[in-house]
Amino acid sequence: MKKAHILLIEDETHIAQGLIFNLEAEGYRVTHVETCQSARSAFEQLQPDLAILDLMLPDGHGLTLCREFRRASPQLPILILTALGDEQERVAGLAEGADDYLSKPFNLNEFLLRVAGMLRRSGWYHPEEKGCEPFRFGQNVVDLTNLEAQTAGGTIRLTELEGRMLAILFAADGQTLTRAELLKSVWGLSADTETRTLDNFVVRLRKYFETDPAHPQHFLTVRGRGYRFIRNPPEKSP
Ligand code: CA
Repeated sequence: MKKAHILLIEDETHIAQGLIFNLEAEGYRVTHVETCQSARSAFEQLQPDLAILDLMLPDGHGLTLCREFRRASPQLPILILTALGDEQERVAGLAEGADDYLSKPFNLNEFLLRVAGMLRRSGWYHPEEKGCEPFRFGQNVVDLTNLEAQTAGGTIRLTELEGRMLAILFAADGQTLTRAELLKSVWGLSADTETRTLDNFVVRLRKYFETDPAHPQHFLTVRGRGYRFIRNPPEKSP
């Protein structure tokens, strides 16, 4: 089997060395760079299977890279490494298209689990797969096969995780999905792991698909439980 190729962008040598050692021990191929500039050329030349991205880099901010990578490759899994407790960075990273994040210092096993989960999920999508009709709701048409959506705001490319989450929500039209169910089926995480990722994802989906993201009609929060997708919300009385 082909080894997954990971592009690691991290300028702190001691952290990078530990990660490389452990990733290679797990059988991955790792290319390590320390600057935005070298990350760009490595990304173009190597077409990695996954990118791990530190945000504070000597010649720029990792968020810029995250945006560029996401634009160039809608399905590349991107894991960002943020400073502990920096909520803004985390939210910004997810808004720029990162799929998941870890706050430094992180647990090594947790790190390896996330990497394995992201690579496994990215293998789930095969563009050549047939039989998936575009899904229509509101003013949107979502093509999960090609990870593309037509919305009131124009055409958008979906990431592989957004596609996975939408597929699960669409299939459960009208039913409440608990946080634990969503975390497990979308991210492969146990219920007691970091849960904000899920909320950020829902915010992103509302921004794409809701006429008024602050008053969602399709992607509803079910207090204390989770989320519910409704394909045909009841007409509001005037
Ligand atoms: Ca750094």
